[in-house]
Amino acid sequence: MNEKVRCLIIGSGPAGFTAAIYAARANLSPVLYEGIQPGGQLTTTTDVENFPGYPEGTTGVDLMEDLKKQATRFGADIRTGNVTSVDFISYPRKVMIDAEKTVETDSVIIATGASAKYLGLPDETKYAGMGVSACATCDGFFYRKKRVAVVGGGDTACEEAMYLAGLAEKVYLIVRKPYLRASKIMQDRAMQNPKIEVLFECNTVGLFGENGVEGAHIVKHMGEANEERFDINIDGFFLAIGHTPNTDIFKDQVNLDSVGYIITEPGTPKTCVDGVFAAGDVADARYRQAITAAGTGCQAALEAERYLSEKGL
Ligand code: NDP
Repeated sequence: MNEKVRCLIIGSGPAGFTAAIYAARANLSPVLYEGIQPGGQLTTTTDVENFPGYPEGTTGVDLMEDLKKQATRFGADIRTGNVTSVDFISYPRKVMIDAEKTVETDSVIIATGASAKYLGLPDETKYAGMGVSACATCDGFFYRKKRVAVVGGGDTACEEAMYLAGLAEKVYLIVRKPYLRASKIMQDRAMQNPKIEVLFECNTVGLFGENGVEGAHIVKHMGEANEERFDINIDGFFLAIGHTPNTDIFKDQVNLDSVGYIITEPGTPKTCVDGVFAAGDVADARYRQAITAAGTGCQAALEAERYLSEKGL
């Protein structure tokens, strides 16, 4: 017989664990499946200095461990396992774990997050946590008065370049096309910032450095007659070429925007399906912070509780 629960949470980042804390304290007996990256994106960063309540800062791994302990303390059932498919058409909702076990649930909180896109260079892996980052707000502080590069030509890249320009000595913005894709105002800000040098029509083909990133190999006009190769000296290499929301399994189940983010009712975590809520980066292309994810995780649990009590479940 299938197991039946009242509140099932998918994902174990700040949104998922915060939802679990609130749902457990509201006696919803939540079950949380951790997914393929327990702890989520934060476990791939080092120091976290902007999560309120940690005056001395903490590490991504410790922060996630703390959130998990806090959820467990109130009785949340945290399980290893990956949700491989869902059926939100039937009621109770059905969630398949590791393609073998089905759990039925009265409410669902989706907190599967998003993954930063990388160029796919082996050096990005080699220097992970040693100068390569996909989050300027998280790691920019470590590059005060240093030289950094940001890859990308969209709003995120311009925003991250501006943020880093407030800290670093010099910021290269590496753009593969001869123009920026960002909104006009963001383009103007980036172009007019004296600390930012935009390298148009440039691709990064490798990184170098002894104990961390010391520079990048750049190719201008790649594959064309006027191809040019040069190196830039940098201490930090920031990717800002977009994020991919982890929503593959929800494609035909809830409404997604053109990029794949879950569409929620403005100002709430409600999806188009009754009793199914979305929290954190999976529904947020704009802020993508641990604290905003935690905030929406809280909202999702409160909404789940209201939904269950209104339905008498
Ligand atoms: P975008 O998809 O808008 O831009 C991605 C950028 O990365 C493009 O310039 C793209 O180049 C470049 N890129 C992609 N792949 C590669 C690659 N392999 N090598 C080099 N460059 C690459 O993503 P964003 O994250 O910037 O923005 C996502 C959404 O969020 C947008 O709608 C944006 O407007 C919004 N946003 C809004 C903000 C705000 O309003 N303050 C802040 C941040 C984001 P190319 O142009 O050549 O395709």
